[in-house]
Amino acid sequence: MLEVKNLKKYFTSKKGMLHAVDDLSFSIEQGKTLGIVGESGCGKSTTGRAVLRLHEPTSGEVLFQGKDITKISSNEMKSLRPEMQMIFQDPFASLNPRKSVGEIIGEPLRLHKLCKNNKERQHKVLELMETVGLTDRLYNSYPHELDGGRRQRIGIARALAMNPKFIVCDEPVSALDVSIQAQILNLLKELQAQRGLTYMFITHDLSVVNYFSDHIMVMYLGKMVEYASAEDLFSNPTHPYTKALLSAIPVPDIHQKTERILLKGEITSPINPKPGCRFAPRCNYATETCFKEEPPVVEVSSNHQVACNLNV
Ligand code: SF4
Repeated sequence: MLEVKNLKKYFTSKKGMLHAVDDLSFSIEQGKTLGIVGESGCGKSTTGRAVLRLHEPTSGEVLFQGKDITKISSNEMKSLRPEMQMIFQDPFASLNPRKSVGEIIGEPLRLHKLCKNNKERQHKVLELMETVGLTDRLYNSYPHELDGGRRQRIGIARALAMNPKFIVCDEPVSALDVSIQAQILNLLKELQAQRGLTYMFITHDLSVVNYFSDHIMVMYLGKMVEYASAEDLFSNPTHPYTKALLSAIPVPDIHQKTERILLKGEITSPINPKPGCRFAPRCNYATETCFKEEPPVVEVSSNHQVACNLNV
């Protein structure tokens, strides 16, 4: 469904060039989920936006069903847009407070002239509301009258309105209460099974990504540091940064001893980054080489890639 090759997204800042996404390559099969994890500022959301061309990539290729969408005109992109949708992190901020639930969900249908008349659009909106578990009496309600879970359901219904094949879910549950998080995650899973949707699921929460993803890519300061199946990543984490992230997941059994790996040291600046491994100032295993040479991406086992000099 999606193949990304050497994707870069740099931003110009007063201090220099900010390398938000730096040479990422990955792919996602149809009907599968790629989870992208990492700390705030590691470039995961920028990756999602660059893949959808909401941020114009600096360089690289984004092949959507075999077509490089970085090379197509904005008009062609507009016609492809319905197939590639996004669900945003903060449901409240992403919904127009002056529009009712029915208007918000129906807006993409209106803009793309997908319904013959208002009646047909209303019927379609009510269908979508039912799909995402919103009762039809909320049709004329406004976002501020609803809780976070219902607002996120509106965001999901709006994304589904265009009948997409691929959805970037950017931290879709991080602004929600834990009990609501589970409901939204289950809804997204059900929709994937029903409609064969392909997801890019961006989160900083490793326990969520494990539940949700087929494959996981761990990012650090714009770089991919590890990529593996969810099962492999959790049973055999290899990159020192991934190990530190996993050690921070709380375990439900208080008798189970887990050793937390604390990361010390300065975070490297993503502006005009120095050569070498970007994780080196915080890595317990860093050698002189790590500060000079960028670690190559190495396949440590089938479909399990790591960018670390320890594995070269
Ligand atoms: Fe640590 Fe060196 Fe591996 Fe980077 S390349 S993670 S600094 S051991």
